[in-house]
Amino acid sequence: MKTRSPESLADLEQTKLLLCELLGNFYRLGWCTGTGGGISVKVPGGYLMAPSGVAKEYVRPQELFELDEEFKVTNSSRLDGLRLSECAPLFASIYRKCGAGSVIHTHSVAIVLATRHETKSETLCFERLEMIKGIRGASYLDRHQVPIIPNTPRECDLEASLTRALDRLAANAHAVFVRDHGAYIWGRDVMEAKRHAEVYEWLCQFKNAAAGLRS
Ligand code: ZN
Repeated sequence: MKTRSPESLADLEQTKLLLCELLGNFYRLGWCTGTGGGISVKVPGGYLMAPSGVAKEYVRPQELFELDEEFKVTNSSRLDGLRLSECAPLFASIYRKCGAGSVIHTHSVAIVLATRHETKSETLCFERLEMIKGIRGASYLDRHQVPIIPNTPRECDLEASLTRALDRLAANAHAVFVRDHGAYIWGRDVMEAKRHAEVYEWLCQFKNAAAGLRS
């Protein structure tokens, strides 16, 4: 990242604190247990991203990766032993193609269960639910459709199918679900990404309950 003013450094530190707080909350919701899941946000000159393979509820602000606009790590010398997530290229695609300001990766049980139950379609469809309005640009009257892509043993191998899903994405969809795995969910900033994650979680919980599925 470029040289920063004291004010923007203070903002960066505040954003790092917020990301760590959100990771703790997401852990308690079961979205990033077992070191899974992740979060990233666009900041002036680049991005911040949580490390991979560590207990997300204990990530400290100084352990977040700083990346430049090309998604190259700029603070690696201070992050000995930590690894950037294999999700990084997937997050980069979402930033590039969707104009996102923040991307969340969740391993939510409700989303995994809903994708596993939907065997006939490559889309999960939600309709006649007030909560759909929590997604930017979506209305109660919409058939809100979210693409499902197949899982792969390695997260980095999801990139091609994720890119194809982004190319056929409905204008108001802000997520791609990965069957048996979880979801990539985004918003124009970190609080909108959080809200969208909560809404998709609710929609999947409802769909599962309506189908008699228990998580
Ligand atoms: Zn994952």
